[in-house]
Formats: sequence, C-alpha cells, structure tokens
Amino acid sequence: MAVKFPLASSIDAWKEAKDLVQVPRSRVWLVSVLGAGVGITESIFLAIIASVGVAIAGKHGGQVKLAGFGAISGISVPVLLGIGVALGAVTMVASFLIQIELARINTRTMAEMRRELYDEFTKTSWPAMRGEVESALITYIINHVPRVSNMLTSIVSQLTAFITLVIFLAFALIVAPLVAIAIIVLGVVLYFIFLPMRGIAAKSGEDSKVATRVLFMSFADSVAASREIKTYGVGEPVRQRISREIDDLERPQYRLRLVQGFLPILYQRAVFMILLAGLGIVYAVHLKDLGSIGAALLIVLRAMQQAQLVQSAEPSIAEARPWIAELVNRRDRYRANAFVFGTNTLDAVEEIEFENVSYRYEVEGGEAPLALDNVSFKAHRGELIGVIGPSGSGKSTLTELILRLDKPHTGTYRINGRDTWEFSEESWTEQIVLVPQFSHLIAASVEENIRFLREGITRDAVEDSAVKAHLTEEILELDHGFETLIGERGHRGLSGGQRQRLSIARAIVRPPSLIVLDEPTSALDHKAEDVIVETIERLREHALVIVVAHRLSTLRHCDRVLVLRDGKREAFCKLDELNNSSEFFREARATNAL
Ligand code: ADP
Ligand code: MG
Repeated sequence: MAVKFPLASSIDAWKEAKDLVQVPRSRVWLVSVLGAGVGITESIFLAIIASVGVAIAGKHGGQVKLAGFGAISGISVPVLLGIGVALGAVTMVASFLIQIELARINTRTMAEMRRELYDEFTKTSWPAMRGEVESALITYIINHVPRVSNMLTSIVSQLTAFITLVIFLAFALIVAPLVAIAIIVLGVVLYFIFLPMRGIAAKSGEDSKVATRVLFMSFADSVAASREIKTYGVGEPVRQRISREIDDLERPQYRLRLVQGFLPILYQRAVFMILLAGLGIVYAVHLKDLGSIGAALLIVLRAMQQAQLVQSAEPSIAEARPWIAELVNRRDRYRANAFVFGTNTLDAVEEIEFENVSYRYEVEGGEAPLALDNVSFKAHRGELIGVIGPSGSGKSTLTELILRLDKPHTGTYRINGRDTWEFSEESWTEQIVLVPQFSHLIAASVEENIRFLREGITRDAVEDSAVKAHLTEEILELDHGFETLIGERGHRGLSGGQRQRLSIARAIVRPPSLIVLDEPTSALDHKAEDVIVETIERLREHALVIVVAHRLSTLRHCDRVLVLRDGKREAFCKLDELNNSSEFFREARATNAL
C-alpha cells in the first residue's frame, strides 16, 4: 500500500471539490491561524497547570518553576493562575471563532452548490431535462450536495486539528524533549497501524455511492409505476429486488460505521499506552523535573486528541468524496446542453417555415431512425393547421421543434423569414405557447395556475381567459372559486377536461401569436372535446394555431392539414383535398380511426 502523508487524500478531495465550489482562501487561513493560536495558548495553559500543580505540592516553596520556560521562572502562583484564566478565555474565544468559520464554510458551500446546480438545470435544454429521472435532481440537491459541504468542513477542521497537533508536539519537544520524541515515534507507528483502515474506508465509500445510485433508480422507478405495480400484483418481486439493493448498501455503510467507531477507541487506548510508556521512560532514566514531565504528558494527551480528530475525519471524507465527481458530471451535463439564444425581439409570429427539417433522437447504443425526415411547410398567422398521422409518426417531435425545445439536426426553421435561434428567449416565450397532451398543475390557486408565475397578468385577464376556455362556470362552482387550491399529488385535482381547458386558459391569458396544441382532446370524452374544439377554433382570430389532432371533429375546422408518416410529410393541403393526397387519411376514414 502506498504510504501517504496523513492529509494527502483530504488535499486531493479538496482539489476535486474546487471545480464545484470555492472556499475563500482567507477563510482557510483564518481558521488555520486560529488553530495555531489555540495550540499555542493551550500549550502554555497546560504548562502552567503542571507547574502550579508541582509548586503547590511544595517542591519549590511557593515559587513556580514554569515547565520548560526557565527564563520566566519565579512567577508567583496567584499571578500564574491569573494568566491561566486569561489564556483559558483566549483559547475559548479562538475555538468559538473556529466553529463560526466552520459553520459558515459548511452552509455557504451548501447554498452555493444548491443554487448553481439548480440554475444550470433550469438553463439546460429540454432534451437534457427530458432525459432526467424524475426526482434525481432533488436527491442531488437535498442529499448529495450536503455530503460535499460536510466533507469540506471536515477537511478544514482536520487541517486545524493537524496544525494544533504540530504545535502541541513542538511544545512537548521544548518542555521534555526525550518524552516527546518517544511519543512522536509511537504516534508514527500508530499511524501506520491504522493505515489499512483508510483503505477500507475509501473502498466502502465508493461501494456505498454505487449502491446508493442503484437503489435510487429502483425507488424512483417503483414510485412512478406504483399504480401499475399494484394492479399487476408484482409488489412482491419489486419488494424483493429493492430489499436486496438495500442490503447491498448496508454492507459498505456498515464497514464505514465500523471504521468510524473503531478509530476513536483504538486511539484512546493507544493514548493511555503512550502515557504509560512516557511514565516508564521517566522512571527508567530517573528524570527529576516533574513539572516539565507533567506538562509534556498533558500536552501530549491533548496532541493525541488532535491526532484522533485528524484521523477519524478520514472515513467520512472517504464516504463523501465519490459524490464530488457525480455532482460535477451532472452540472457539466446541464451546462454542455444549454442552448444559446439571440437577442432579437420577436414582436409577433406572422409566418413560420420548416425547410427540409430532420430530427433524430439520441438513444444509447445505436442510432434511432429519423423521427422527422426532411419536413417542409409554411403557415401564417390566422390559420388553423391540423397535424395528423399514425402513432409514432413524429407529431409530438414536430411540436417540440416548433417550440424551439430542441434543434433540428438538419434543415432550417424560420419565423418571419429569420432563423428562429436569433430570437431572445423572453420575447419567444411571450409569443409562442404550448398546450401539452398532459399539462401539469402547480400547487397553488386556480388563478395562480392560469397566471403560471408570469408577472403583469391581471385578475381581469385571468377571468377573461377562463371565459374563453369555457372554464368559468366550473371554477365558480369550486369551494373558493378562483382562489381554490389545486395541484398534483396531495392536492385537489381536476378532471381531464377541466385540466385541459385550464391549460388553454394558461396559454391564452397573455395573448400569443402562435399556439401549439398536442392532442389536447386525446384524454377527453366527446362532450368535453366539443367545448375545446370550439375554443381552439376561435383562437385563430389573433394567432397561428397548430393542433395535433386525432379525431375528425378537431380537423373539421382546420384551414390546412399536415399529414406525417414515418417522420415524412405525406401531405399538406386543405381538408377537402386530403382524400386525394393522403393514403393515411383514406385508410383512417375507412376504418373509422379518425
Ligand atoms: P407521435 O407524437 O406522432 O406519436 P413522436 O413524435 O412522439 O410520435 O415520436 C416519433 C418517433 O420518435 C417514434 O418512433 C418514437 O418512438 C420516437 N421517440 C419519441 N420520443 C423519443 C425519445 N425521447 N427518445 C427516443 N425516441 C423517441
Ligand atoms: Mg405524440
């Protein structure tokens, strides 16, 4: 096993963490200086205690010979006791200051990492967000970030303990060189005896990380699929698998806890042995200066406590260290996938154009077929465009590209004749909105759900949009009308139709010039659908409306229809021309699939 300087792995971990969060150097210096101060004042304090003890025992007739400090000997006991009190107070204040700094390092780095990781997540592109396991980010921000800030705090307190330790040993050397040297030699031997424990801690830390990740994925999956797991009656196998994975995590954590628990015990016993050895030396070589020997033993006792702090920090550092790379990877992935938009303002969408647009999803291990294959079309404000095609033909992909949620792999997407990437994000999101197939409610009032966190939307506008979305009557029937609290799990929900109409109200409350609806009626019965189709039809007064449709009733009002098949454009024409130009349409009509 490679022999390493005691703090070597901490220094490596510290360097790795620098990429995530910076602890100001001034803070580390301050803590180090305070640690040195504590070492010095406490050493003198202990020397005074030993000397006063010996003096009181009557050896020097009331005059104190200060252990190791011949030059300032001859001070009276009361004066020394006074100095002792003052030094004790100084040590206490310095120790408090160290704790204040440690607390600040801990909470600051935690807050900074949390903010940064979340910021990068919000700025990353939709494909990167979509690829994320639900609640993974939450686990990283809530659980794994504190691991790293606790580790940084441990390293700084380890450093402080190390500095104090060195100073204690230096004082011991001054006060009673022979005893100190013997003890340092024993300390080094101890360090090597404990070395294998560090190896166990490092390996267990890595194993523990891997097992945590596996367990997380299983939990996330099984919670998300909990309804299916119940209805298919597969709770037992899922429980068994998760139980095995819990065991896999238990083993490395058990080893880590053992190392953590054993180290202090071993240290304490070792310290007692060292003290006995020190006394043995004193006895063997007939040392007479009891004040010095007493002081040296006291200081060494404290030095060993510091050594214990230095070494017992190792297992928790080893446990946290593997998570640094995890956090760095995640942040870098978010960062690398962020899109950069231009600064031009999009005042209103007058015309959109796809020119030979192709798109391919990235899948692990191999190449997915083109989800969109060389699609071209143009549409104008005031039109209602229907998009149809078999399942998997690329309709949802098309809507996401129209919304600029991802980039075409080849081809160009223009709005008002300009490349869409030139437009600023703010003006884009004001003009272009999506009504998704399944929209998400936030835990807030109906009013806030329609406003959806955007500023400058008045209550009047909210009520107006509810009228347009045919939602008002049902809202007013709720217990608290627009103030009724709704949300996803754990809150009052809404029916599928109400939810879709709320989603439409949300989309039109700040009038956009391009509205994209992805199968807005797919989860609805015919009556609920009629209301929505009527609403959609009226939207085109001020906007271009593109609606992915799966029923003829939606198509009836469309000015033109785009038919997709295997990602290709099969037709783009008026409704009455569809029969001639689209095979899919003919087949669908014949089988009543539309
Ligand atoms: P539609 O909305 O018309 O049913 P989609 O646009 O959702 O079709 O899908 C088009 C094609 O892309 C399908 O072959 C589908 O399997 C594939 N696809 C959709 N989403 C993903 C994804 N996240 N990763 C990989 N392939 C995908
Ligand atoms: Mg779809």
